[in-house]
Amino acid sequence: MTRYKLTILGCGNSPGTPTICNNWGVCDPAEPRNRRLRASLAVQAEDTTLIVDTGPDFRYQINRTDIARIDAILYTHAHSDHVNGIDELRILRLQEKRLFPIYGNEETLATLRTRFAYLFDELEKGVYPKVLDPHVIPCEAYGAPMAIGAIRFTPYDQDHGTCRSLGYRFGDAAYTTDMLDLPPESIETLRGIKTWIVDGCAYHTQENRVHATLEKIYAFNETIGATRVIITHLSGQMDYRALCAELPRGYEPAYDGLVLEAFDS
Ligand SMILES: [Zn+2]
Repeated sequence: MTRYKLTILGCGNSPGTPTICNNWGVCDPAEPRNRRLRASLAVQAEDTTLIVDTGPDFRYQINRTDIARIDAILYTHAHSDHVNGIDELRILRLQEKRLFPIYGNEETLATLRTRFAYLFDELEKGVYPKVLDPHVIPCEAYGAPMAIGAIRFTPYDQDHGTCRSLGYRFGDAAYTTDMLDLPPESIETLRGIKTWIVDGCAYHTQENRVHATLEKIYAFNETIGATRVIITHLSGQMDYRALCAELPRGYEPAYDGLVLEAFDS
């Protein structure tokens, strides 16, 4: 039995809360759990640490959580709020003298290679070394466990409207961010988990074309059966205390720094 420690490094949507110039939307500035960095998760077991996504707040998130070493990055998708801190991996590559391993679906890694070519190849010969060791997770690998160090994870496909994203299951917990819809095979991968961290950024806006509504999450969880559902990727229209009052039993809003545990038998 392996125990995983999951830390929500950020539960905000793309601009964070408050957005730049201190716009809090409907969120109460006096409630500390409304202060949200961009979405990211740390997963730790024994001496292994995996981080899901490297958004613009990546360096600050790792330092404030006192994470001393990162083994690999798992990417959900290549939207800027999930990748724009990727340059921080350069210093880890130099310190550890190894190419830094990153994982993602084919679409995500192809987009990263286009946007950050200098991290994938030595463009300035002899001046700036290449940084990344990319690992494509092919479609055929979805739904089956993979391992990095002491951590086993199972990737699954998600529809994010404008692109496909990846979710990751860790034992009896799973992380589903940036999801509009889930294919049946992914529901099967999630069936039986206890803890589900899931994107509810659309809130009650049925017209949202990239994120799930709360109603859709409730419907999915009829089949998945998670007993603790943590809503993440929260917008400025989603106040922490208002959500606590609104959400049904077994559901709760995420907040930055929330620590959870998961078990893998
Ligand atoms: Zn996205």
